[in-house]
Amino acid sequence: MSIELEQQNELKELRAEVTDWIKHNKPADPGFLLPQTFMEVGSEPVLDFLREWQHKVWSAGYLGMAWPEKYGGRGLSPAHQNLVDAQMKLARAPICFNVIGLGWAGPLILDKGTEYEREKYLKGILNAEDIWCQGFSEPNHGSDLGSIQTRAERDGSDYIINGSKIWTTMGNYAKYMILLARTEAQAERKYNGLSFFLAPMSAEGISTQPIQKLTGEYGFTETFFTDARIPADCIMGEEGQGWRIAMQTLQYERGAEAGAAGGISILSIVMNDLLKMAAKVEREGQPLLKDHVTRDNLVKLLIEEKALHLTDKRLGIPALCADYPNSLSLSGKLRSTEFYRRMRQYAQSLQGTQGSLYVGDDQAVDGGFWQRAYLNNFSTTIGGGTSQVQANIVGEHVLGLPKD
Ligand SMILES: Cc1cc2nc3c(=O)[nH]c(=O)nc-3n(C[C@H](O)[C@H](O)[C@H](O)COP(=O)(O)OP(=O)(O)OC[C@H]3O[C@@H](n4cnc5c(N)ncnc54)[C@H](O)[C@@H]3O)c2cc1C
Repeated sequence: MSIELEQQNELKELRAEVTDWIKHNKPADPGFLLPQTFMEVGSEPVLDFLREWQHKVWSAGYLGMAWPEKYGGRGLSPAHQNLVDAQMKLARAPICFNVIGLGWAGPLILDKGTEYEREKYLKGILNAEDIWCQGFSEPNHGSDLGSIQTRAERDGSDYIINGSKIWTTMGNYAKYMILLARTEAQAERKYNGLSFFLAPMSAEGISTQPIQKLTGEYGFTETFFTDARIPADCIMGEEGQGWRIAMQTLQYERGAEAGAAGGISILSIVMNDLLKMAAKVEREGQPLLKDHVTRDNLVKLLIEEKALHLTDKRLGIPALCADYPNSLSLSGKLRSTEFYRRMRQYAQSLQGTQGSLYVGDDQAVDGGFWQRAYLNNFSTTIGGGTSQVQANIVGEHVLGLPKD
């Protein structure tokens, strides 16, 4: 049997196996609102629930499938993981919440870390024992990341950290932070003065203050460093190499570089869900799905969603991406997050006066699911680089336009 055919059969068997596993292991509704994205983990019960679920998924062998066995993975191919993730999505399984570890810190450590770092950190990321957060953004420096001011000063075998970070997803629950800090204030180029740390959040002098979102939910914090001492060997790479490492991290975050451990990070809310809603909501005695103008708009959105899927497939065929190399990976975040924002906005507009209701209101369509989904979607169009910044990246790095 050819290797290709063998893999196809193996994947077929895996599909049946994981479908059966989900059927028997998907947890019952916990009776509280579960997050739609990993950026809404805002209470202990939600955290405990998701931690247990991720541990279970990993124990069953369905997370980190393409990571090496010696770090807690299974040494299989990304195709195995993709198949499992797709089945989890279809079944609306809960998310695997430790995304900053699974998706960004983990692949970074696998690729750039020392053997010591790989052995120390990777398994805890997969089994959900060690939650990770990301300390990049600061109160006045989000898009302009190169200007961050948090200082890291070498003092013997430690670095002393002073400053503050903001929008730290799961900052109050994390054991480790990927931290970007300034080790040289007078560097000729501001980027050369930055260093990258795998910092323990338990260090004295680090404190967090939860921030509430416009949805009323929590999920991120402001994080303060006051003479916080972290061991000098927490630095990743050399002093002054932080910018390069941070940029690689952002490539994982924006989905432009592969290597993530897998797991669903965001509940999939797709056109099929919108069609179901449009079939339920009535205007002048008939379902909206029968209204001609609505149908026209829905078809336009369906075409866009299909185009997104086909574009993803095109990514796997190099000859079809030759005109503008990297264009698809660099534009992926912008295209998909903006599409889903518009799609969710349209979902609300279909609800007429009920569109202004929210979770907890008696008459809210689907219990306010679409309103919550719309507002939480802004997390994806802002976090990891805003849509405007993504558009700049496409303009400069794909189309070759001037910076100003
Ligand atoms: C839900 C959520 C979770 C997050 N989690 C984390 C986290 O865990 N860790 C972390 O470090 N950060 C996190 N962030 C922060 C996020 O990365 C920043 O919010 C983002 O980079 C934007 O920075 P800012 O908020 O400072 O906005 P600003 O940079 O002040 O931008 C304000 C506005 O100006 C526009 N703008 C700025 N610069 C340009 C430009 N050059 N060209 C055109 N327009 C521009 C922006 O698009 C935006 O509309 C999170 C954000 C959100 C919403």
